[in-house]
Amino acid sequence: MSKPNIEIPVNHEPSRETLVYTIENKLYINLTDRCTLACEFCPKIQGSMDVHEYNLLLSTRHSVEEYKAAIGDAGQYDEIVFCGFGEPTLRLKELLEIACYCKQAGVPVRVNTDGLGNLANKHNILPELAQCVDALSVSMNAQNEEVYDRHCVPALKGSYDSMLEFLRLAPQYIPDTTATAIDGLEGVDIKACEAKAKELGVKFRRRVLDIVG
Ligand code: SF4
Repeated sequence: MSKPNIEIPVNHEPSRETLVYTIENKLYINLTDRCTLACEFCPKIQGSMDVHEYNLLLSTRHSVEEYKAAIGDAGQYDEIVFCGFGEPTLRLKELLEIACYCKQAGVPVRVNTDGLGNLANKHNILPELAQCVDALSVSMNAQNEEVYDRHCVPALKGSYDSMLEFLRLAPQYIPDTTATAIDGLEGVDIKACEAKAKELGVKFRRRVLDIVG
C-alpha cells in the first residue's frame, strides 16, 4: 500500500509577534512568556504584556529557525539578552541553540533568569549554559524566603533555596554572574540582598521597578 501523500504546511511568513526587540543597541530575545513565578511587580501579572513599545505576548512556542530569522546578523548588536515575560531556561534546548548561534557571531550573550533553571529542569544546567552564555543576571528579589514568597508567589516548592544554590554554583561556570533585587518593594532589604550576594560570591545590582534590562 502506498503512503498517503500528506503535505505538512510550513509557515515561512515572518512572525508578527515580538520574538526579539531592541533597546539601545542590545537585542532582547523573548523566548517564552511562561514562568513558574507570579511576581506581583511583573507587568504580565498586572495585566499588561507591554515592555517599552513592544507587546511580548506569545501565542505559540516559536521555533529556533524563526528566532534565527528574527535575529539576522547577531554581530551587529552590542549584546544579546534573553529577557522577556517568561523564564528562558524553561525552553533550555532552544535557549542553548539560539545562544550558540549568537556566540558564533562573536557577540556577548547574557541570560536574565529567575535562577530556577536547575529546579525546573531537574539537573544542573550551568555546564550547558557555560558553553554559550557569557553572563547571568539572576533575580534574587529578596533577602529571605518569606519576603520572596510574598512577592514572587513561586509555584515550585523550594524555589528560594534553589535560586540561592543556583547563585552559589553559577560563578564556577559563568564568572560574570550578578544577583539583582528591586529597590522599593515592601520588606525587601536591598543592603541584606547585597550582603547575601557577596556571601554567595556573585555581584549585585539594585534594580529600579519597571526598568527592563
Ligand atoms: S519571573 Fe519575571 S516574567 Fe516571571 S512573573 Fe516574575 S517578573 Fe514576571
